[in-house]
Amino acid sequence: MNEANYQYKDFVATRLYCAKCRASMPVVERLLLVLPDGYLYEYLCQECGEVLGDRKVSLKAGDQQLF
Ligand SMILES: [Zn+2]
Repeated sequence: MNEANYQYKDFVATRLYCAKCRASMPVVERLLLVLPDGYLYEYLCQECGEVLGDRKVSLKAGDQQLF
């Protein structure tokens, strides 16, 4: 509808439920580990810093020689 709302779509506004804040909170994505075949990110509550989850991102073929 309003295209101006989409100009920052690269910033993924992930929200996860935080037990401490008792609400769905915006999270900060932090690179936790570089693995041989991907990256492990963890998600921290933007408000209290509690770890709310993690995510493994596999490298695409061709990216594996970067490091
Ligand atoms: Zn929190």
